[in-house]
Amino acid sequence: MPQARLPDINTAFIKYRNEAIGAMKRKDYDNMHGALNGLNGLLPEQYRVIISSAKYEELTKEDITYECKTCTAQKGEPVEIYKEQVQVFDLYPDRMQRLLFGGQSETVWKCPKCDSTHRLQDTVINITKLQDPYFIKVVPDPPNKKTGLMDKLRFDIEVKKWAWQMLNELEHQMAKFRDDNWMRGEDLGDMEDIDGGEENE
Ligand SMILES: [Zn+2]
Repeated sequence: MPQARLPDINTAFIKYRNEAIGAMKRKDYDNMHGALNGLNGLLPEQYRVIISSAKYEELTKEDITYECKTCTAQKGEPVEIYKEQVQVFDLYPDRMQRLLFGGQSETVWKCPKCDSTHRLQDTVINITKLQDPYFIKVVPDPPNKKTGLMDKLRFDIEVKKWAWQMLNELEHQMAKFRDDNWMRGEDLGDMEDIDGGEENE
């Protein structure tokens, strides 16, 4: 990319950003989406923000695992089982147990690898968040338009939240693009002029 284009992109970026925020405030969501798409389109392909709920969920989901004591003892290192693979159920005491220990049921889970049953209460549960939801270059699909007064109020809140998330991602990608292409001790003067509202040289 020829570097001379960067100040132009920067100027257009600021213009579209102001348009997007202005349209958001006017609840003119068609123009807001248009300006946000415009912002995204200014960035070279490798910096563009991907709009996909499926991809967003994949990147931000939590992984929950249960540690199986039996498998761990056998293997000599922690064996974690994904929550999705585990069957959790309540175990009711039989007559004798009820007599000896009282009548409380217990929540247990069954390890699919070794078939042994463990008390949920005594289980080491690990929760791993794969990524922070910000600056992953992916946002979910924008919220859908709703009908009805209450739904519209709710939609306003959701669409604003989404727009700010998109804007933050775009700003982050723009900053990265600037860093990668411009911040090598070269002509920084151009960049600073733009926020001051001056014309490009
Ligand atoms: Zn096991």
